[in-house]
Amino acid sequence: TIPVITLDGPSASGKGTVAARVAASLGFHYLDSGALYRLMALYAMRNQIALDHEARLAMAAVRLPATFAEGVVKLEGEDVSDAIRAEEVGIGASKVAVLPALRAALLQRQRDFRQAPGLVTDGRDMGSVVFPDATVKVFLTASAAERARRRHKQLIDKGEAANILQIQQDIEERDARDAARPVAPLKAEADAHMLDTTDLTVDQAVAQVLAWWRN
Ligand code: C5P
Repeated sequence: TIPVITLDGPSASGKGTVAARVAASLGFHYLDSGALYRLMALYAMRNQIALDHEARLAMAAVRLPATFAEGVVKLEGEDVSDAIRAEEVGIGASKVAVLPALRAALLQRQRDFRQAPGLVTDGRDMGSVVFPDATVKVFLTASAAERARRRHKQLIDKGEAANILQIQQDIEERDARDAARPVAPLKAEADAHMLDTTDLTVDQAVAQVLAWWRN
């Protein structure tokens, strides 16, 4: 079977950066599953679909006109790579992500990314629901303050105004919603390696995941 490495964890725990680096170093495909939920939120916002309209959103998810190629995310042909990173789209993503029918509709789409020679993927339920038979499962954490600092820096680097306390509050609300939902709640699997990145550099975190992969 085609190997899969899953990295799950809360917002801004570093999983996206680490997953992309691990994928590049192994020559594997990379799936940022959060981008799918962000795309759904953006799609809903743009088409005035309420973020809790489960039936309409699940239907839209099945035929979501989105493509991923060379790091560019497109929705209906338009490059939305930056648009989906907006803070309010992340918050919207965590709202649509509570809908079981929408999650079910995205399942096969995510599994289709499992292609030779292998896949590295990050999200909230990659090791628990989407790829329960993953070769290596990692659960990343970092303190809320450190995660807020990282997200703040990302926004500042993009030239966006950002308030670190507001960001920390948004992150904590989003984590609470992700952990409390009945379907695919954010939690570490029993067979996942725990990786606290609070005091680690990206290089150190990548090296640790690669070491688990080699063993
Ligand atoms: O990881 P990212 O911040 O891009 O994810 C946005 C939101 O999408 C998360 O807060 C979470 O609610 C949802 N999500 C999810 N399952 C995933 C990935 C993301 O529920 N596998």
